[in-house]
Amino acid sequence: MGVTVFSQLDKSLNEHLSTLVRLADHADDQAAAELARAELPRVVAVVKALLDEHRPDERGRCPTCRTRWWSRRRPSPCRAYLGAQLCLTVVGQDGGRHGHLRNAG
Ligand SMILES: [Zn+2]
Repeated sequence: MGVTVFSQLDKSLNEHLSTLVRLADHADDQAAAELARAELPRVVAVVKALLDEHRPDERGRCPTCRTRWWSRRRPSPCRAYLGAQLCLTVVGQDGGRHGHLRNAG
């Protein structure tokens, strides 16, 4: 039951994000500017909230990631931080293309 509710949430979230991307692609400049003003702060807030759970300590260890993939022997780069960093910075430099960095790290 919980899975169903969750997958509906997941679906509607994904649809919302897809809509944003589609609008950003196809809207005229005026509409795109309005969309960015309205939606960008919300998207940023979401990213921040998510990254909040992945706050690495001073050695770069993340309390959420470290129990899974990384042993205690080496400091774990937080995958969420790495992913966000790669997406945001690489997309910015690359003119919007992404998708080739899936296995980075
Ligand atoms: Zn993490």
